[in-house]
Amino acid sequence: MVAMSSFFDAPEPRRVLPGDYPLWDEALALVNRDLAVTLPEQRPLRLLGLPAYDGGEGENVYVALADGEWHGNFLEPAPADNLAVALSAVTEAAQDTVTELLWQAWPLCEEHRLGMHPREEDGRLSWWCAGAAARREAAHIRAAVGGLDALVRPHRPNRRRRSRG
Ligand SMILES: [Zn+2]
Repeated sequence: MVAMSSFFDAPEPRRVLPGDYPLWDEALALVNRDLAVTLPEQRPLRLLGLPAYDGGEGENVYVALADGEWHGNFLEPAPADNLAVALSAVTEAAQDTVTELLWQAWPLCEEHRLGMHPREEDGRLSWWCAGAAARREAAHIRAAVGGLDALVRPHRPNRRRRSRG
């Protein structure tokens, strides 16, 4: 369900404190590393809590820009010890918020200038790029989520040779 705060009954968002959700903190720290190298002008994303709709004590947690805006779904509560599940949920929510509110694909593959997608690869959540079919460059995994800063220069394992025919 997509959250839309209405003018009349918008509940007050709560800034989630470090340690309230340790696994989501850990996951968001990884995603923020990628944000820092790809959109250095953006301040880190943060977690924001809103009271659950049912009026109970629970809250729904969103991944928001530094200014508190977000887009998309709240995070599905994950098993407390499963970072992979948490990272997948946080990455997806972060991507929704960044792409929708900043109106740009994020993160971009530096080689192909394409928006990448999170995908499980060898047990790690990674950024996947569709490649450039027109140039016969295959889809590829760019880096693990949280690892884009390791790519100081574009990684080109298959450098194209200047040959014709
Ligand atoms: Zn690419």
